[in-house]
Amino acid sequence: MDIFALLREKDSTLYLERGFSFARHTTIGCGGRASVAAYPSNPAQACALLSYLDGEKIPYCYLGAGANVLPSDEDFDGVVVRFTRMRRLAAEGDEVIAESGVTGGALLRFAREKRRGGLEFFTGIPMTAGGAAAMNAGVSERHCSDVVTRVMCVCRGKIAVFGENDLRYGDKTSIFLEDGLAVLRVHFRTARSARGEIERERARFAARRASLPAGRSMGCVFVNPAGRSAGAIVDACGLKGISVGGARVSEKHANFILNEGATASEIAELIEIVKLRVLESTGIALREEIRRLPPVPPAHT
Ligand SMILES: Cc1cc2nc3c(=O)[nH]c(=O)nc-3n(C[C@H](O)[C@H](O)[C@H](O)COP(=O)(O)OP(=O)(O)OC[C@H]3O[C@@H](n4cnc5c(N)ncnc54)[C@H](O)[C@@H]3O)c2cc1C
Repeated sequence: MDIFALLREKDSTLYLERGFSFARHTTIGCGGRASVAAYPSNPAQACALLSYLDGEKIPYCYLGAGANVLPSDEDFDGVVVRFTRMRRLAAEGDEVIAESGVTGGALLRFAREKRRGGLEFFTGIPMTAGGAAAMNAGVSERHCSDVVTRVMCVCRGKIAVFGENDLRYGDKTSIFLEDGLAVLRVHFRTARSARGEIERERARFAARRASLPAGRSMGCVFVNPAGRSAGAIVDACGLKGISVGGARVSEKHANFILNEGATASEIAELIEIVKLRVLESTGIALREEIRRLPPVPPAHT
């Protein structure tokens, strides 16, 4: 039986898609296909799915909005677990609680409607709540690590809730990325705020993004090393505008690589060239912020 048939037999209510295209579902717009994408609609269904995949040793990976990933050109004989059907939102006490498939836009609209401030820094970041919590998304002065209080996730085949001290947040990393745990629900700390004030804050953060390059990208490719701007370092090495096939280092922002008809391999080659030239010129080893897909998460046994 193929993976699709196995999953269908296991749970007839699970939404499945055959021949999932990474190119169609990522902002960079390249990559091959996966045999199946599975879209659980609630935490229990997600947990049962992941336990089953682990038990059967079926390879899988997680994908949110696909805004910070470089998929492989190779087809993936496995399952892309997507959380985009898990979109419940709630406001409780000082918190806004979002299931992992809630988009940044929906999160911000809900917070504004409920007069909860403090999340405006997410304005303009393409994301799901799960992907953002895993990546520790944010801007220079504020990140998920500043506002996430609790996360419901799947750990060792069971639903677990981690408090803020358990999340191992660092620069573009977290326990979820390190240990391959699926984020199911995220609790964000907020503060009561007037709608006008929330709108002003959103406009302020939106204005800061006006100079970002348009076009298909993964956002920033490299983590800023020790407080320095990775884009400024790449720029200082004279690498703006260099290209491999249809992949080009943006002229506007040297930490962005644009896909102008490239394969994933061409983008990966360009990333290697940038790293090598920066290392040779400055001695700095740039670390990738973007995540390669499909990785195989460690089995939660
Ligand atoms: C134009 C542009 C601008 C950007 N600007 C910013 C910015 O200002 N600040 C910033 O921080 N980022 C920025 N990014 C990067 C990206 O938006 C963020 O990293 C965002 O958090 C990615 O969320 P996602 O849902 O798309 O995750 P994806 O890209 O789908 O996934 C990212 C990683 O998280 C994992 N993952 C996804 N969902 C889950 C889950 N539920 N559980 C466990 N792991 C999961 C994936 O396997 C992958 O390893 C930008 C990207 C683009 C294209």
